[in-house]
Amino acid sequence: MCHALLQTPNFFRVLLRIDEELAGETRAGGCPCGGVLHRSDYPRKPRACLKEVRADFASRFSFCCSRCRKRTTATSVRFLGRRVYLSLAVVLVSALHMGQVPAAAGISASLGVPLRTLQRWRHWWQQLFVLTPLWQAACARFMPPVATDRLPGGLLERFAGTAAESLMRLLIFLTPLTVSRLITLQEGR
Ligand SMILES: [Zn+2]
Repeated sequence: MCHALLQTPNFFRVLLRIDEELAGETRAGGCPCGGVLHRSDYPRKPRACLKEVRADFASRFSFCCSRCRKRTTATSVRFLGRRVYLSLAVVLVSALHMGQVPAAAGISASLGVPLRTLQRWRHWWQQLFVLTPLWQAACARFMPPVATDRLPGGLLERFAGTAAESLMRLLIFLTPLTVSRLITLQEGR
C-alpha cells in the first residue's frame, strides 16, 4: 500500500539522501555572479514527519552567496515550496482523497491534516498545478492524457516500479516546482 510509505523511516531517509545530492549539485553550480555558495539552511517544522527522522527534516538546504549575498535554495524531494506538510503527504493524502475518501479521512486524521487543507491541496493540484510551466511542458508526454480530476493519483500511477519507486519518481519529477514562487500557497494552520 502506497500510504504505508508515510510510516516508513527508510523511505524518509532515501528522500534525505536525494536532497543531499540535489544540494551538492546546487552548491557546485555556484552563484550566477561567480561567488561561492555557503550553507544557510532554512529551519523547518515539517508536518507529517516521522519522529525517527524529524531532526534530519528540520531544515531545508539553502545557500547564500559569499559575494552578492543572494540566496539559492536547492530543489527538494522533501519540501514542496513553503508548505508545512512534506511533499510525500501532499501527494499521497491528496491521491487518497481523490479516490478513497474514507481511507483519506483516516490517514489525514492520523497525520493531523485538517479537511480544509485537503481541499486546498485538491484545488492546487487541479487548478494551479496544471498551469505550471512544468506540467504545461510535460503533460503531453503522458499518453493517454492524465485526467485533471484524477490528479495527483492518476499521475502517480504513470510512474513505474514499486510503490516506493513510483512515488520517488513523481517527487523527483516535481522538484522544479519546489523552488518556484508559483507554488507558495498559504496553508491553514
Ligand atoms: Zn552571488
